Amino acid sequence: MRILIAEDDDSLALGLSRILQADGHAVDVMRDGEHAALAVRQEHFDLLILDIGLPGIDGFEVLRRLRAEQRTMPVMMLTARDAVNDRVRGLDLGADDYMVKPFAIPELAARARALLRRSQSQAGPQRVHGPLVLDVLARRAFLNGTPLELVAREWAVLEILLARVDQVVSKEHIIQSMAAWDEALSVNAIEVYVSRLRSKLEPAGLRIRTVRGFGYLFEAWVAPNAVTVNEDGSNGAD
Ligand code: CA
Repeated sequence: MRILIAEDDDSLALGLSRILQADGHAVDVMRDGEHAALAVRQEHFDLLILDIGLPGIDGFEVLRRLRAEQRTMPVMMLTARDAVNDRVRGLDLGADDYMVKPFAIPELAARARALLRRSQSQAGPQRVHGPLVLDVLARRAFLNGTPLELVAREWAVLEILLARVDQVVSKEHIIQSMAAWDEALSVNAIEVYVSRLRSKLEPAGLRIRTVRGFGYLFEAWVAPNAVTVNEDGSNGAD
């Protein structure tokens, strides 16, 4: 499993990373809110451990953005002692659990395991590509958090291209991958679906390039703006 820790307390982040890595997880650490929000938008994580008091945007805002974009990954918030309002607010915003600082790291690891188990047993797989989120089981797509209307064949072509981001996919491969469709597909039809996908995706900065005489390449997502990092160590609530 892949876990993101958003925590600006280095010793706590390190302790958490070590114990979660010992459990066999891949762990990334972000020290500020902007980077954490960007990371969950760009990459897939199975769990977010989110401190409230972060430099830049705080943990509440990171969580609010995440849920506004329909990202359903489990989130565990880290809150300050006696901050009942923070815990209520976090849960209202869609946190799945919280830990009150200071806590014993093995207890957090145990709760993280429980959250991962729960989400594995109930969540449909999601495919995330920058601002685009595909809920594979429900067959629903969201672009910047807004439902995206796709006809079945557009969805199929999109899935095929997304499975090979930054690689050239031939039109023949797309046709073969869609062979289950009852009606034969022509190269022209594939061109039409790709063209429709482009008009839907390009406003959000997602590009499907034509590789002349061969096929298409879905470009890797690159965030449009560099992130401003708050280096002054300013901290939030705790
Ligand atoms: Ca903090």
